Amino acid sequence: MSDKTTALITGANKGIGYDIAAGLGALGLRVGVGARDDARRAEAVEKLQAAGVDAFGVPLDVTDDASVAAAAASLDRLDVLVNNAGITGDGPQDPTTIDLDILRTVLETNVFGVIRTTNAMLPLLRRSEHPRIVTVSSSVGSLTRQSAGQAGPIAIGYSPSKTYLNAVTLQYVRELEGTGIKINLACPGYVATDLNGFQGHRTTEQGAATPIRLATLPDDGPTGGFFEDAGEVPW
Ligand code: NDP
Repeated sequence: MSDKTTALITGANKGIGYDIAAGLGALGLRVGVGARDDARRAEAVEKLQAAGVDAFGVPLDVTDDASVAAAAASLDRLDVLVNNAGITGDGPQDPTTIDLDILRTVLETNVFGVIRTTNAMLPLLRRSEHPRIVTVSSSVGSLTRQSAGQAGPIAIGYSPSKTYLNAVTLQYVRELEGTGIKINLACPGYVATDLNGFQGHRTTEQGAATPIRLATLPDDGPTGGFFEDAGEVPW
């Protein structure tokens, strides 16, 4: 078994996930680059290794039971899981005209993917001395923000998927209370990535900062919170 604190980041081949991997690697962690595409994963691992990061590739499609199970079986230890992979879903997402298949696709990745991955990795995390789970959500999932009209454009798939994800995460927090596993939600802010056509005003490095902080919390750090930068996002 590796003697280094080991992290797995889902969707780490690009965007915020890549910079979470780079940041955790710079802090001395061994990082598993979870990604579904072989070429994109290999390229990210190579780039991270060239930057001095102890990185390795983990084939991982969070929508696929067999892929997630194989990923878990390939790991000899896991201390930090960062559930970062996410999609907005293609096509219009107006409530009155929604194609339910779009909703199913978004939920399959953004919610069921996190549940599937978390459950597969829990046996490894339970063996860690300082286990941490960070789930990358979004402030657009905040009901407080949604009810105030402050959660971006109308999108019945993406924003509510993050609301559901937040609620699901709180269920894990309750069930895993007392195990030492800290579970927190992170909003990276509005970051320029493929996800939003590179419209965000933050860099991926800036977006990675909150997930990195939560992934490396001390033992007296919080659990069950929803954080963006130094502050908490209202539920
Ligand atoms: P990107 O589109 O740049 O990255 C998304 C990552 O998720 C990619 O690596 C993608 O892989 C991966 N992914 C998608 N589906 C799957 C799957 N089924 N299995 C494994 N990996 C998958 O977006 P961001 O970096 O912006 O998004 C990262 C997270 O941050 C998401 O959860 C997003 O909701 C959240 N977020 C982003 C914000 C922003 O402003 N950008 C704001 C708030 C939250 P592939 O390359 O193969 O498609």
